[in-house]
Amino acid sequence: MSIKIENLTHIYMPKSPFEKKALDDVSLEIMDGQFVALIGHTGSGKSTLIQHLNGLLKPSSGKIIVDDIDITQKGVKLSDIRKKIGLVFQYPEYQLFEETIEKDIQFGPRNLGLSEDEIDKRAKRAMKMVGLDYEMYKDKSPFELSGGQKRRVAIAGVVAMEPKILILDEPTAGLDPKGRDEILEQINILHKEYNMTIILVSHSMEDVAKLADRVIVMNKGKSILDGVPSEIFNKIEVLEEVGLAAPQVTYLVRALRNKGFNISSSVFTVEQAKEALLQYIKNTK
Ligand code: ADP
Repeated sequence: MSIKIENLTHIYMPKSPFEKKALDDVSLEIMDGQFVALIGHTGSGKSTLIQHLNGLLKPSSGKIIVDDIDITQKGVKLSDIRKKIGLVFQYPEYQLFEETIEKDIQFGPRNLGLSEDEIDKRAKRAMKMVGLDYEMYKDKSPFELSGGQKRRVAIAGVVAMEPKILILDEPTAGLDPKGRDEILEQINILHKEYNMTIILVSHSMEDVAKLADRVIVMNKGKSILDGVPSEIFNKIEVLEEVGLAAPQVTYLVRALRNKGFNISSSVFTVEQAKEALLQYIKNTK
């Protein structure tokens, strides 16, 4: 299953004084099984782009082809798209509203018109997939939970639709470090164990370096860089020009290299820095 975006342009409020071109001729393809990070300064077009992928926004021009079907065509049912592509908005817990966690997670599958038996199974499975114990949590109110747990419930609600592709817009925003790590670990499990294709919008270069196998950089409505994390984070100057940065640890390693330490310049995670430093110590003994 792939998503092909062809020459996608989106203009908000066209032909008005507030006209704004938010996407400008974007073309890219996302392949089955990838973990793609979408990064870019605020206003670069990330949210606009992902909202096209499940049919929430319609292009001003261009196409979005999911599994050989152009979803921008008239007559394509949004529910069919959403069975394939799940979108978790920023602060998704604001959309929790049912009395119990189980009911909240069942809401999406119920809207798909599935049988009660299937709805039950889906909710149970989704809770397991996001690491929430079914018996312990099913009858609790979502509002009794911590921020991180609430977010898990909200993600489970999308996962319960069993999409092949899961898009998450800043899923760690506003969480404490423990909550952030837990959510990221869970997203990694959805990718690794449940084979979901992941598209992650993130501001954290550390998270991107740790998790993604492909990084797309947006600037002013265009995709300006697209590659594996090591390629992208080696282009520090380009990233800085568009208001981004490499992971912190990359700067640390650069500073060490400038001081004469002969360590690898391709370090983007703390784990890689540890390896590089150990290697350096070994070589200099
Ligand atoms: P990002 O997610 O990277 O922060 P957005 O896709 O939200 O970027 O925004 C891209 C551009 O489109 C920005 O200039 C933003 O102000 C504008 N924009 C976003 N949503 C709307 C809207 N509903 N109406 C008008 N302009 C919008």
